[in-house]
Amino acid sequence: MKELLMVRYGEIFLKGLNRPYFIRALVRKIRYALRGTGSNVWVHDGRILVEGYDDPETVVERVTHVFGVHSVCPAVEMPKEDFDALCEQAIRMMDGLKGTFKVNARRSDKRYPMGSPEINMEMGGRILDARPDLKVDLHHPEHVMNVEIRDQAYLYVRVIPAVGGMPVGTNGNATLLLSGGIDSPVAGWMVAKRGVQINAVHFHSFPYTSEQAREKVLDLARKLSFSCCGIKVHIVPFTEIQLQIRDRCPEEYSTLIMRRFMMRIAEAIARKTESGALITGESIGQVASQTMEALGTTDAVVSMPVFRPLIGFDKSEIIDIAKRIDTYELSSLPYEDCCTIFTPKHPATRPKKEKVEEAETCLENPEQLIADALAGVEVVSV
Ligand code: ATP
Ligand code: MG
Repeated sequence: MKELLMVRYGEIFLKGLNRPYFIRALVRKIRYALRGTGSNVWVHDGRILVEGYDDPETVVERVTHVFGVHSVCPAVEMPKEDFDALCEQAIRMMDGLKGTFKVNARRSDKRYPMGSPEINMEMGGRILDARPDLKVDLHHPEHVMNVEIRDQAYLYVRVIPAVGGMPVGTNGNATLLLSGGIDSPVAGWMVAKRGVQINAVHFHSFPYTSEQAREKVLDLARKLSFSCCGIKVHIVPFTEIQLQIRDRCPEEYSTLIMRRFMMRIAEAIARKTESGALITGESIGQVASQTMEALGTTDAVVSMPVFRPLIGFDKSEIIDIAKRIDTYELSSLPYEDCCTIFTPKHPATRPKKEKVEEAETCLENPEQLIADALAGVEVVSV
């Protein structure tokens, strides 16, 4: 008898010709998540199995956070020939469970001497003999004793839900504008969940923003990198651009102009890293630079799609996800972001694109500013 973990993946995405590609990608990501645990991850009979670990809790915890995993089932594998032994094992696995149950047998080995209904009846009867406190409920059971008869028999009761989504890398790359705030890590996580490899850009305005602010962003990227399978963070020196905007441009448009520069630089980095889109943590109306008109003026400077997965979320909903993905505490550390320095007293909330463009002409050589920022980029892999 052997204990192992059966990994279930979302069925919807597995139809058609992409299935083997998807499974291979998922296996790679599970192996990555389990490195150092001594586990062996392999595909057998169309299923992903994990075995050979000492610490099941750690393995379950890690696998349930891998994008593409729908649920995991701690199972036992044993020889199928001895039906008495299967029933004894099933009774052991029902230990501690209360309420109603049913047995659900499936048989891919059609030569097995018992049919599925017969296994259900016989095993269900024996469980009831051993556990008269339990009741059978065929329609809405609290527990299902699953029995799969394949080359071996597999038994499992517990189904532990996992994060879902698709394996990272199966849907291309995108570049996340990562601040030290609450929103952008959540936005990156949501897009990564859909199978997208994340690449991050952070704008840093030293000495107006501190060394701790930079470290905080790297720590956030490290947190995300467990689910996102490693992230490259591009740290962009942004001080000169911010100072010039502060000194030369009309104050009411300064935040918008700053955001337009962020988008231009992020797009240049995105192209270099073969990203197909930009991602931001904006949501409609959250601040002056996130009104519909303001978002329109920031989008106008890039030709790549901009993904804003939080666009319709309230702050409290974003905070709930941040807590769930464990970025909230880090995000709440009180270090200044470059968006919060030099903020105008009365930012334009319904800016016209032409007005912002005109305000931007106060800058002498914007191309050079962008080129200098790009030349100073530092890349940190986390
Ligand atoms: P967040 O919690 O993500 O910081 P926020 O509510 O503070 O969001 P803003 O400061 O207006 O919002 O920023 C909007 C978006 O712009 C962020 O979600 C992020 O994607 C991007 N952004 C802001 N500041 C930076 C930065 N310093 N580096 C990279 N991206 C940034
Ligand atoms: Mg912010």
